[in-house]
Amino acid sequence: MKKVVFFTDLKKLYDALENFQIKSFAGKKVPVKLHMGEEKNKFFPRPEFVKTVVDELKKINIDPYLHDTTVVYSGPRRRKESYEQLAIQHGFTPENVGCNVVIDDSGVPIKIEGRDYEVADHIIESSHIFVLTHVKGHIATGMGGAIKNLGMGGVTRETKSRMHYGARPIYKKDACTYCGICAEVCPFDAISVEKPNWNRNKQSCFGCGVCVDNCKENAIEYEDADFQYVLACAAKACVQDKNVIYLNELKRIARSCDCDPYAGPIICPDIGYLVSDDPIAIDKASLDLINDVKKDVFEKENKINPLKQIKYGEEIGLGSSSYQLIEI
Ligand code: SF4
Ligand code: SF4
Repeated sequence: MKKVVFFTDLKKLYDALENFQIKSFAGKKVPVKLHMGEEKNKFFPRPEFVKTVVDELKKINIDPYLHDTTVVYSGPRRRKESYEQLAIQHGFTPENVGCNVVIDDSGVPIKIEGRDYEVADHIIESSHIFVLTHVKGHIATGMGGAIKNLGMGGVTRETKSRMHYGARPIYKKDACTYCGICAEVCPFDAISVEKPNWNRNKQSCFGCGVCVDNCKENAIEYEDADFQYVLACAAKACVQDKNVIYLNELKRIARSCDCDPYAGPIICPDIGYLVSDDPIAIDKASLDLINDVKKDVFEKENKINPLKQIKYGEEIGLGSSSYQLIEI
């Protein structure tokens, strides 16, 4: 049974980290993998909170730096230099957080379950990684937790793009009943259905796979693979054979991701923090705690079951969904 430590007071952070051999990170340069927020997003991790974590790591002779990667969509996070500027605008300066920010724009391919995932250079070269995740909803995965932070945030823009393209729908006319559900659930209004026509606007489709997941007739299938499956595989590519500690922040739990400029509203009250050495256990514990407060809130809000990434991750050996919650 994997353990996950739960706490609500940041003064207990070190006690939580001690459960997972944080001292073995001492003397190492360690990336703190996190998302520093899309332009106009209001819910990304607070620099004050990040500084508390960084200070705790520095106290035990760890040399941390904040780390993220460039993204596929347009906006300041698409390029390294403009993401660095945005991080400063969001308060992630060395003065505020106590360490530097590194944005990667290239990586090294790692094969997982038959597909290549380009893992960011600084993740590849690190033996020890600290994954700091703000847990919230996500339009393509229901919930964005540690698996999402790594699986999308730890790989290059090219790999992100390929993962999304693989989840685009392929239409099978003979099975379609023209019920229109795929058009209703598409978060990008990319599908139109009017019997006998079914159309997808290729420019608007972001490859989230929500339409495929919601078609009860199997009239659309993934071009390559379920996005939540490749997400779990990419997360495994980032962390396999490494020492990793995960911290999930269950606060400002918005409907959508920190990558969404319009991520609100808040859909669940603040809960607290979780620490673990297992990405599957910590995400399952996060999801269970949120479901205890607001049952199935991510699935209702985003029309997709967030549990799939956890199940896929477990199947490919990324971690275990069995956990024991220890409250401190
Ligand atoms: S949900 Fe499936 S059956 Fe319904 S219109 Fe879309 S593709 Fe056709
Ligand atoms: S994959 Fe996502 S964006 Fe593309 S058509 Fe389906 S629901 Fe819409």
